[in-house]
Amino acid sequence: MERRTFLELLAAGVITAATGAAAGIFLPKLIEEKSEFGFGKMGAALPPIAEDVNVYPSAIPIIFEPPRVTQVPVPFGTISSIPHHPGMFALTVDDGISSHVVREYTRFAQETGMRLTFFVTGQYPSWSENIPELRPLVESGQIQMANHTWTHPSLLKVSNGQVSSELGQTHDFLLKNYGVDATPYFRPPFGNHDERIDSVAASLGYTTAVMWHGSLSDAGQITPDQLREFAGKWIGEKRIVIGHANFPAVTECFGYIKDLILERKLQPVTLNDLYLKR
Ligand SMILES: [Zn+2]
Repeated sequence: MERRTFLELLAAGVITAATGAAAGIFLPKLIEEKSEFGFGKMGAALPPIAEDVNVYPSAIPIIFEPPRVTQVPVPFGTISSIPHHPGMFALTVDDGISSHVVREYTRFAQETGMRLTFFVTGQYPSWSENIPELRPLVESGQIQMANHTWTHPSLLKVSNGQVSSELGQTHDFLLKNYGVDATPYFRPPFGNHDERIDSVAASLGYTTAVMWHGSLSDAGQITPDQLREFAGKWIGEKRIVIGHANFPAVTECFGYIKDLILERKLQPVTLNDLYLKR
């Protein structure tokens, strides 16, 4: 019970692992919990503190666990929600103009277990600069990398060859630097696509255009208050929500977003969590 209280406080953001450690909170709790299982009751000395210090870090709770999910075949064509998965929520994050914001998103994921799908615009240095932090999360499946072209043009205005090279360059970049084949998920810049674009994309294996059900509306600069309002409006079950790693407002809202997901009892997921590649 004692440990659960601590976890709840941690989940609610009242304390963090760091402040908890600084305040000496979890070591006494751990000993108390162990005593429930017999250490204390038998009148034996408490286990050496050093042992607990060594043991505890691996037991620091992750707020969001990986999902338990029945995967279904990935839909062909355009998706903007995840209708087969009640209680689940997919946050997708685009562009990466700001390396700082990509790094902070990565830290958010590290600290909470949050699952994210990045739609990478390959030309931005953020995707190279943050490889050391991102790659382990990509390898564990907690973060998914998907294709948002190389230079972010409206694909409607470029030739078939350019559509191919826009998707191909980011595809190759992700394969080389993250070891992932990003197919079949692409997001056309500005959401602009048509049958021609989809057909060229499909010829490269990008058979699923990922749109969204709601937006944090932060492709450009907005205030943290505005962003929290959009988060409150759109974060919900079976939804794909789009955000951007472009401006720092979102980095002030991670706690709020985490609390919304917890309050609404949502399970964060990546697209790969839900769908089997065909
Ligand atoms: Zn974009």
